[in-house]
Amino acid sequence: GAAISIRNVVKEYAGQGNAPPKLALKGVSLDVPEGGIFGLLGPNGAGKSTLINIMAGLVMKTSGTIEIWGHDIDRDHRNAKLSIGIVPQEIVFDPFFTPFEVLENQGGMYGVVKALRRSEELLRAVHLADKRDAYSRTLSGGMKRRLLIAKAMVHSPPVLVLDEPTAGVDVELRRQLWELVSELNSEGVTVVLTTHYLEEAEELCDRIAIINHGELIANKPTRELVGMM
Ligand code: ADP
Ligand code: ADP
Repeated sequence: GAAISIRNVVKEYAGQGNAPPKLALKGVSLDVPEGGIFGLLGPNGAGKSTLINIMAGLVMKTSGTIEIWGHDIDRDHRNAKLSIGIVPQEIVFDPFFTPFEVLENQGGMYGVVKALRRSEELLRAVHLADKRDAYSRTLSGGMKRRLLIAKAMVHSPPVLVLDEPTAGVDVELRRQLWELVSELNSEGVTVVLTTHYLEEAEELCDRIAIINHGELIANKPTRELVGMM
């Protein structure tokens, strides 16, 4: 089955002031298969964040349908939301909270039972157990990114979506994040990530879709696609 099913999704942003409206997605359809690591690749401005933000419920689509784990994001918003964890591009948690508090708060928001135990477990999974009670603002950039991944996993969603997880990150940290994403995937989490690094998609993803100017221009197993380039 498909972990995520996207059908004819169109997004038009209203223009600011005298600017004309911007058609950011021009009728995108694609299925993300269960169990793999799916890469959404494309240059800046292609529409990757728009598509991810629509899945996350942060941006309203103009038309089309999206199902997450079989749940329509409009008609069954609650179950769709429980089925997906989103790792945003921006680091968004309160800098005065500790990693443990960030996870516990998120667990509370999602009504996670045993949020305390789940938080401890996730801190270990993202290798932040020794930073449990540090102020988040004192964490390195890499630690913050790992905490964001843990935050998205608090409610144990079957699907994890990461928006440009390694943008502006050095080579070593990029490797660390790839490893973490692979670990989560090997534990059964379906992963979707956006990237503008071909190398990242090739290394991590078993399937790659390419989006350009709001249109899907390829969607293939990585091996086949790389053979074409
Ligand atoms: P990507 O993530 O691939 O870089 P985006 O989804 O951020 O692409 O952007 C797709 C297009 O939509 C770009 O032309 C961008 O300028 C435009 N866009 C994105 N967000 C907005 C917005 N809030 N208002 C108007 N236009 C936007
Ligand atoms: P709202 O609907 O007002 O955004 P939510 O309860 O959906 O409130 O979100 C609360 C917090 O959790 C926000 O910081 C939001 O960015 C984050 N969030 C929402 N959905 C997810 C998700 N699926 N995975 C991870 N974080 C999420």
